[in-house]
Amino acid sequence: MVHPHSDRHDRFGELSHCVIRDANITHPFWTYCRNFRHTQHPEELNCGEAPRGWIYASGLFEGYVRIPWNGNNEPYVLVSVECSVCGRQTQEGIMVEHESMEIGFCSNYHYVQWWKTIHEDDSIDTAHFEIPPER
Ligand SMILES: [Zn+2]
Repeated sequence: MVHPHSDRHDRFGELSHCVIRDANITHPFWTYCRNFRHTQHPEELNCGEAPRGWIYASGLFEGYVRIPWNGNNEPYVLVSVECSVCGRQTQEGIMVEHESMEIGFCSNYHYVQWWKTIHEDDSIDTAHFEIPPER
């Protein structure tokens, strides 16, 4: 549909699916990847092309930041969690599913720090995230 039409929001949501990675996209305007291109003819995009890097979500707000999905698992932000890295409890954390468990994080920093123990990608680092205060 290219853009949501005011009278067809439900249909836009149904179509918000990544055919390259077979991933449901729940926040189409806040989800990013390097395969995405704006086009008036989405049916002409090559569904068989290889994934180019990760899917990204908008992280917790500390300026405008993106955090990688955990494979096809979307990280949910602004949810109540206990951080699996530092133990901090917050109403505004990040939760992601991993091996059928939900794992919580207090910050973009601790999420990406954990993420890097699971995924190999030197282009992603924590350098530009705010370091959470020590407990
Ligand atoms: Zn933490």
